[in-house]
Amino acid sequence: MKRFDYYQPQSLKEAYSLMEKAAGSAKFIAGGTDILWRIKQKAVEPDALISLRGIEGLKGIHDNGGLSLGGMTLFRDVERHSGIARDYPALMQAASMLANPQIRNMATIGGNLCNAAPSADAAPPLLVVDAVLVLEGPGGRREVSIEHFFKGPGQTAMDKTEVLTQIKIPMVEPHAGSAFLKVGRLKQDIAVVNAAALVVMKGNLCTKCRLALGAVAPVPLRLKSVEKAVEGQEIGPALLERAGEMAAKEVKPISDVRSTEEYRRAMSRVLAKEAIKRAVMSAR
Ligand SMILES: Cc1cc2nc3c(=O)[nH]c(=O)nc-3n(C[C@H](O)[C@H](O)[C@H](O)COP(=O)(O)OP(=O)(O)OC[C@H]3O[C@@H](n4cnc5c(N)ncnc54)[C@H](O)[C@@H]3O)c2cc1C
Repeated sequence: MKRFDYYQPQSLKEAYSLMEKAAGSAKFIAGGTDILWRIKQKAVEPDALISLRGIEGLKGIHDNGGLSLGGMTLFRDVERHSGIARDYPALMQAASMLANPQIRNMATIGGNLCNAAPSADAAPPLLVVDAVLVLEGPGGRREVSIEHFFKGPGQTAMDKTEVLTQIKIPMVEPHAGSAFLKVGRLKQDIAVVNAAALVVMKGNLCTKCRLALGAVAPVPLRLKSVEKAVEGQEIGPALLERAGEMAAKEVKPISDVRSTEEYRRAMSRVLAKEAIKRAVMSAR
């Protein structure tokens, strides 16, 4: 493993200035569960790691009508938050299925998004709630909708010097429900396919539908044609079947070490259908 310097700044300002001095040869580190593994694999070889752990205010979950999660919030804290379990079940389910307790005690939600793996478990539940990401850097503060954040495997809309400081989730709508599902080679493994659905119900009528799938395209994907087909309809077995078929057509999976394109497509159909069904049950 290549030697690197390690810095632990106490403020964002200090972190930006260390990053600017490194002129592109440094990386931020949060929980380290992904980046240290990539350094060991020689997939990245930074000259320095700049830790975000010592910076005040990047951690924690605040209820302000909606929710605000610090970029350094641990999955263990997301999993145990009673407000998330009540109002955003898909996010709680995703957190509790990520890896194992040891990883969840280290891994951060910001690291999961910035890593930009197409299989990132936090992405689908945040896509279905239209989360907004707050990015701060030497040039100031800006907000990017999560839908426009992912640009490709390992690629995001962030500049190298920016930090993901906050994830803003809008207030939950009345009669909303959501669900997250995941298929992996082993329980709690990185997803072969994952899916989150959110519905708002008026009696049996679905007035709003959001569906997002991961590990089936270069970026976590909103399936807008399925959403459109479900909205304004009463949800029953035939519609769910159609939603699954549409999802299987819309995804663009690849074959890799974890799975084949065919299996991912077949699982997209099952998970899309089942996630919508469970979201409806959660809304009731
Ligand atoms: C055994 C194992 C199992 C895993 N299982 C899963 C799984 O089931 N599901 C899943 O989705 N992932 C899984 N992962 C991947 C990883 O644990 C997660 O993606 C985790 O959330 C990464 O967070 P971290 O805080 O450890 O990020 P780090 O490794 O510290 O950082 C990841 C990347 O994001 C950047 N970064 C981190 N935080 C910020 C920030 N706030 N602002 C700007 N840049 C930032 C870093 O520079 C780095 O490039 C697994 C990893 C391991 C080792």
